[in-house]
Amino acid sequence: MSKRPPVPALSEAPLAPGLYLVATPIGNLRDITLRALDVLNACDLVLAEDTRVTAKLLTAYGLSKRMERFDEHAAAREDPRGPTTKTLALLAEGGRVALVSDAGTPMVSDPGYGLARAAIAAGHSVFPIPGPSAALAALTLAGLPTDRFLFAGFPPPRSAARRTFLAELANLRATLIFFEGGSRLAASLADMAEVFGPRPAAVARELTKLHETCVRGTLDVLARDPALDDPKGEIVIIVGPGEAEVATAADAQSALAEALTRLPPGEAASEVARSLGLPRRDLYRMALAMREGR
Ligand code: SAM
Repeated sequence: MSKRPPVPALSEAPLAPGLYLVATPIGNLRDITLRALDVLNACDLVLAEDTRVTAKLLTAYGLSKRMERFDEHAAAREDPRGPTTKTLALLAEGGRVALVSDAGTPMVSDPGYGLARAAIAAGHSVFPIPGPSAALAALTLAGLPTDRFLFAGFPPPRSAARRTFLAELANLRATLIFFEGGSRLAASLADMAEVFGPRPAAVARELTKLHETCVRGTLDVLARDPALDDPKGEIVIIVGPGEAEVATAADAQSALAEALTRLPPGEAASEVARSLGLPRRDLYRMALAMREGR
């Protein structure tokens, strides 16, 4: 008979008063931390995006807890009987409140930002209980640079707004992370290929679940992949970094010539250094030479 390793017991240490932002699994229920279970077990109230979803998680771990739905819209209205006011009152009495979303890290494209801000402003303790995050799971799987990245959330649903949104990110020297739904994936990939060009990218789907996949390739190839036309499940798109355009000596000269018509050499050099990202000292020397007609 195989011997199963012992299941670590829940902590019996008392839980400090405060608001706990608890990350929960994004698919595989075993991706829950022991600390998350400790908090969900010992808190006074679980605020859940959807109590039915969170009930399944609690039941899987034999926990039963008072739960209330955290209604983001009611919270935003600052209704005196709304969730933010009620939660702040409970925290003021020394309560321990756990905020969870349906999956992953709360407040990342999920409700809770206003509540966390209000709790911080009121001077209550706020504790992150880190764990699953679809954005970071996809980033680690994509095979693209991880040293600098930007999480951009869901792109706008309409193509014109989406292209404008993408264009603002085009020159960033950072890997980009987007959430997307299956029905919009092909259109989003097509717009990304158009705006970003054939950069390396990856589409991560159903992470931690039975049908987990990650398709890697350049954006133009991914945009034409029939397997990525309306696939089922949850999706993260990762796009490799752009290259900030490097200004040439000719760019510097023409920008300086224009700036010198309005400004003295020192200020012209500062302005062009800021706009082209070149060293001010070199630009100043160049500006003096241009003024002297050299
Ligand atoms: N707060 C969550 C987190 O930290 O992972 C994200 C919530 S957001 C409302 C839901 C989006 O996250 C989905 O549309 C999808 O883009 C992404 N997502 C969530 N779970 C995923 C999974 N298992 N695989 C791939 N993407 C997932």
